[in-house]
Amino acid sequence: MKTRQQIKSIKTSHGYVHFPAFFPDATCGFVKSVSSADLKNAGVDGVVVNIYHLLKNNLVDKIARKGGIHRYMNFNKPVISDSGGFQVMSLIHRHPELGKIEDEKITFMLDGKKVVLTPETCIQLQLKIKSDIVMCLDDCTEASISQQEQKKSVERTISWAKRCKQEFERLTKNKRHAKGMKKPLIFAIVQGGENRTLRKHCAKELLKIGFDGYSFGGWPVKKGRLLSRTLKYVSSLIPEGKPRYAMGIGKPQDIIDAVKFGYDMFDCVIPTRDARHKRLFVCKGKNKNKIISINIRKKYFNMKADCDCHFCRNYSFKDLHAYFRNDRRKAERLATIHNLRLYSRMMERLREKRKRGKRG
Ligand SMILES: [Zn+2]
Repeated sequence: MKTRQQIKSIKTSHGYVHFPAFFPDATCGFVKSVSSADLKNAGVDGVVVNIYHLLKNNLVDKIARKGGIHRYMNFNKPVISDSGGFQVMSLIHRHPELGKIEDEKITFMLDGKKVVLTPETCIQLQLKIKSDIVMCLDDCTEASISQQEQKKSVERTISWAKRCKQEFERLTKNKRHAKGMKKPLIFAIVQGGENRTLRKHCAKELLKIGFDGYSFGGWPVKKGRLLSRTLKYVSSLIPEGKPRYAMGIGKPQDIIDAVKFGYDMFDCVIPTRDARHKRLFVCKGKNKNKIISINIRKKYFNMKADCDCHFCRNYSFKDLHAYFRNDRRKAERLATIHNLRLYSRMMERLREKRKRGKRG
């Protein structure tokens, strides 16, 4: 693959994001089982919140009243907000009786209430919670749909991105940002499934509109395997100097591979969800550069994870196993802290490599 100059960082209102970076999912404005202090101590690069989940839990106004997501979470690192489109559409695809997707808007039922989501309201909600990186509403479809439907989804994604950008500009243009505060950034999502012509068309049209960063949309994994060819191709469509965000990629090896393809940003529930299910990540191999996940059991009681987190400094896997039996909350917190720290250190190593000019 042709080596190109990769972007090293981007500046947000809450500091720089140094690439490559991983963002754990704080869907409802918190990461399950841990506090914001735990997140900070684990050295996370930032978090991702989700507009659908915030709406579902009536949190948008509450967060706005608190002065924004950073104050609400007591967290001063970059926050990405996901448009929630993926969740709404998955819901409608699974239960067509719960909503309707039209070119103009998406209408759906949320706990008995009718909610209308448009590209414009989607941007309004994300700006209302003062997110640092705002995502466009996109038409995310199932991987199995026909080419004709795929084409329609791409056209809708482009048209919605245009409307999102217009609304974003309208709301941020004349607004004075507090001293030192930067205007939020807006990212678009490249759709098109595994069809190269559609991916190319989508990327080209989104680039014409102009965004601060571009994401790989749709399922990045098929039958447990990374869609490497499509990921590489989409990466090659995004010009130098623009961040590439591989949404939903989160297994350590998949992140390492996607960094080689040129991606800069990642988010996934894997490290935190796995931790709550007793799955811990550990470094293996001669140079400790292979990361595997283990299920806590007797075999691993004396294992050392080569980690400097709060859990590894003070407890053993045997202790953790016992906590999972008699103090689940404590166990989940310790396991989550560990997995997040391990991911942070993995990203640090990937950043070091990039600094030295290596791809991954
Ligand atoms: Zn640890």
